[in-house]
Amino acid sequence: MAAPIPRYDYDLLVIGAGSGGVRAARVAAGHGAKVAIVEEYRIGGTCVIRGCVPKKLLVYGAHFAEDLEDAKRFGWEVQGTKFDWVTLRDNVLNEVARLSGLYSQTLQNHKVEIIQQRAVVTGPHSVRIDKREITATTILIATGARPDVPVCEGSEFGITSNEAFHLEKIPRRIAIAGSGYIANEFAGIFNEFGAKVTMICRSDRILRGYDEQIRDRLLQISMSKGIIFRFDAPIEKILRQANGTLSVQLKNGDAVDCDLLMFATGRVPNTDGLGLESAGVAIDEQRAVKVDADSRSTCPSIYAVGDVTNRVQLTPVAIREGQAFADTVFGNKPTRVDYNCIPSAVFSHPPLAGVGMTESEARNKLGSVKVYTSDFRAMKNVLANRDERALYKIVVDDISGKLVGAHMIGPDAPEILQMVAVAVKAGMTKAQLDECVAIHPTMAEELVLMK
Ligand SMILES: Cc1cc2nc3c(=O)[nH]c(=O)nc-3n(C[C@H](O)[C@H](O)[C@H](O)COP(=O)(O)OP(=O)(O)OC[C@H]3O[C@@H](n4cnc5c(N)ncnc54)[C@H](O)[C@@H]3O)c2cc1C
Repeated sequence: MAAPIPRYDYDLLVIGAGSGGVRAARVAAGHGAKVAIVEEYRIGGTCVIRGCVPKKLLVYGAHFAEDLEDAKRFGWEVQGTKFDWVTLRDNVLNEVARLSGLYSQTLQNHKVEIIQQRAVVTGPHSVRIDKREITATTILIATGARPDVPVCEGSEFGITSNEAFHLEKIPRRIAIAGSGYIANEFAGIFNEFGAKVTMICRSDRILRGYDEQIRDRLLQISMSKGIIFRFDAPIEKILRQANGTLSVQLKNGDAVDCDLLMFATGRVPNTDGLGLESAGVAIDEQRAVKVDADSRSTCPSIYAVGDVTNRVQLTPVAIREGQAFADTVFGNKPTRVDYNCIPSAVFSHPPLAGVGMTESEARNKLGSVKVYTSDFRAMKNVLANRDERALYKIVVDDISGKLVGAHMIGPDAPEILQMVAVAVKAGMTKAQLDECVAIHPTMAEELVLMK
């Protein structure tokens, strides 16, 4: 008897080769599915090409400004130092290209077909790529998100994080519109590289969602490093001056003059022009694909993972969603992502990180909480004469004694918090934390010594 003719070209067609899409494609192929992945830009997506990875490399590069200054106090004679942006930029871009190549290699090793084109959905099982149509039993939307630039006169004069990695030079004065993690990270980076940074914040605070005391500490330190903050300052319009510089006009009548304006004003899911309506895939008011707990959209054969679903816009979350989707649909291993206690970090100067409930959230939700803090100057900063204090905070449910949140700012805070997050996630108690003997001398030991 002749083999049955397959109904569709592929078992799975993934749109978007970023964190979520690549993981889903690779794992589904590992489970034996015939998979193709379509990518309109570069393999690796936002994280690898213009997000976490190049950003973190710039953070490292920026930190040398302080390290070189501090080195003198540690006996090093450092002469004639000079920062060359183009060298750093090109080394970072080369590293990004290397990683993108590795991602392609991994996909190919798993026999995933890579199609470098833009894809548009044309039905529950079909996608248009260039002029041809291809079909699949299941389609996964993993198209991520893009910078959301406010609509105002002159907004076309501003750049976003996408362009920040490709600048020809570091501007003398940069204005950064936004107050979230990307805005604060780039403020630190540009400030360390010697630019005069002004943050233009629409509201009266930075880093909504993070613990208030930790945010305040970053604000104080950032200001002491020379970053200017303009709060409650929505932008009215942007004017280009005759000499090529920009004047950012604020609604309160003030203006910020700068050589470069960067918008870090949020990210919007990539669903525009994706043809989702042709398959009955519903989107919400933020333009995110609506999905259930298994990442299935309102069309039964179409799923969505990662930033395009606007659940938690972080790489490790997109990866988990991609993995859970592939295991559930192709691996006969139903898996759901647990969104409770997702740790996150801001790679500012200094960095901060948090997991679980902030102090005020815990007070609102639990009523009776105990808060332990350690406010200290890292040993290295003391010798360096750097007046910059770290702050660690642990939030404990008073009734059960369980850790419900941990928040910190200071050198290496994200590295340290990753392990504290395990304790919070595991529901450990403060007493159990205290039972652990400190490693001395470290900063992290503060966590087991809080009284
Ligand atoms: C500056 C910056 C810094 C960040 N830093 C961090 C960090 O430190 N830690 C962290 O966890 N997260 C960070 N993020 C967020 C992180 O990058 C995203 O959460 C993650 O990349 C989401 O993965 P994804 O698979 O959903 O989408 P993406 O990685 O964005 O991938 C989507 C892909 O789909 C492609 N695509 C879109 N539409 C189509 C189409 N129609 N056809 C074909 N291809 C298409 C896009 O080109 C893209 O490659 C950062 C983001 C930015 C912008």
